[in-house]
Amino acid sequence: MVVGGGVAGLATAYRLLRPGRDAPGAGDVDLVVLEAEASAGGKVRSVELAGTRVEAGPDSLLARKPAGVELCRELGLGAELEAPATGATMVWTDRGLLPFPSGPFGITTDLGELWRWPGMSWRGKLRAAADLVRRPAPPTADGSLGALLRRRLGDEATDRLVAPLLGGLFAGDVDGLSVRATFPELESWERDHGSLIRGARAASRAARDRGAGPVFLRLRGGLHRLTEALTAALGPDRIRCGARVERIEPRGTRYAVWSDGVEWPADAVVIATPAFAAADLVEGFAPVAASELRAVPYVSTAVVVLVYPKGSASALPPSSGFVVPTGRLAMTACTFVSRKWPDESFGDRAVVRCFVGAAGVEDVALEPEEDLVWGVSRQLAALLPLPERPEEARVVRWPRAMPQYEVGHLERVDRIERALPSGMFVVGQAYRGVGIPDCVRGAGEVAARLRAHLSGDVEGARVS
Ligand SMILES: Cc1cc2nc3c(=O)[nH]c(=O)nc-3n(C[C@H](O)[C@H](O)[C@H](O)COP(=O)(O)OP(=O)(O)OC[C@H]3O[C@@H](n4cnc5c(N)ncnc54)[C@H](O)[C@@H]3O)c2cc1C
Repeated sequence: MVVGGGVAGLATAYRLLRPGRDAPGAGDVDLVVLEAEASAGGKVRSVELAGTRVEAGPDSLLARKPAGVELCRELGLGAELEAPATGATMVWTDRGLLPFPSGPFGITTDLGELWRWPGMSWRGKLRAAADLVRRPAPPTADGSLGALLRRRLGDEATDRLVAPLLGGLFAGDVDGLSVRATFPELESWERDHGSLIRGARAASRAARDRGAGPVFLRLRGGLHRLTEALTAALGPDRIRCGARVERIEPRGTRYAVWSDGVEWPADAVVIATPAFAAADLVEGFAPVAASELRAVPYVSTAVVVLVYPKGSASALPPSSGFVVPTGRLAMTACTFVSRKWPDESFGDRAVVRCFVGAAGVEDVALEPEEDLVWGVSRQLAALLPLPERPEEARVVRWPRAMPQYEVGHLERVDRIERALPSGMFVVGQAYRGVGIPDCVRGAGEVAARLRAHLSGDVEGARVS
């Protein structure tokens, strides 16, 4: 039994039927996915407006984490993977939108470029360059991403360059996010190279030597094609939509799962819902797991999709969009959709999507639709030669959608997994990576553990 039909739940069910490289073994498992909403897919969702279709949730897969892209290929969608038409991202500064100096995660690899970059003070640049000579901190337990960045690069480079990119992926505050659960490579850069700048240089060299391709890929037409392909591979009998699970009861070594007054008996249960929903389901028989699940904080955000009138396309610079240091604009980031993912249906119209709301500035995402549209479009018109008003706009709310990996998050996930009874598993965005590739990798691991459990392999069913 799988509770929740987002990417994580669907991929777990798929891996139970078709074990891949992550999960070798027989796949003849009798299963059903119970999904609360009218259709499966979870956060993979798009909106239709002004004769176009635009992603309202995820728009691309991080190729460096291969599980997502590999699953697309396995589902026969390999030829549909495409790279963004432009990869360059910009950042909002007091001097307008500027391209990032080159280097991964906004950490510059070229000091000459940093000196010439007009978006920071000389004092901030010198402090960032001091990363090359400052002694590395002795290894400690998990710390915050912000503490590491500030220690190495100083406040200005952290707040203006790195935090808008890295914190933005979590709609989070770098000073509260765990470095180990979010970007553990930064810790190893400091440890192994004595400096983030040297670590960034080594990582860039390694990527070049590997001939690494594009950082992000999407499926032509949208990521719903992934969840639709998973749904099709599972078949209609294995997915029940509109079936919210209200209660789970342990019955000896088995479980009874209740949805809409119907009891579904199960040998094992995978809960692939947000952590707070999982907490409600296990409260009655696993209180320790429930309180740890409930302790994973979530942030609410919203996406504002704007389609501008004909002739506006060239108002967008040749960039995939920009990120904004916290609190400087109503939006935290903006994707230039018609530049990043050109589509015939856009014609010569500019299409953008703006993200609003993040840790510490969540209330912006709760504002009335009209205020959000007006607020972001006015700010865009001040930055770019766009009309003050779009032709059409749509706001998609994402209440409690972004789990925050606080310092100590991975230890919390260990405690959750240990506190769940035998035959019960959790998977998805709340645990070991917030993106789709992480959810897919986690799905393979949970499917392998579940099959080990069904075959009586107690060791194999544990978290490795
Ligand atoms: C705006 C936005 C942009 C993003 N951009 C990207 C991106 O570009 N790339 C990327 O890789 N990731 C991105 N992400 C993250 C990505 O969307 C998630 O990693 C992924 O979709 C999470 O999948 P999931 O299955 O864990 O959770 P969800 O998609 O939340 O699925 C959980 C499912 O459980 C169901 N459910 C809840 N309670 C119950 C219940 N009691 N009974 C039955 N069903 C229940 C829900 O209805 C839902 O369908 C983005 C997220 C957001 C919000």
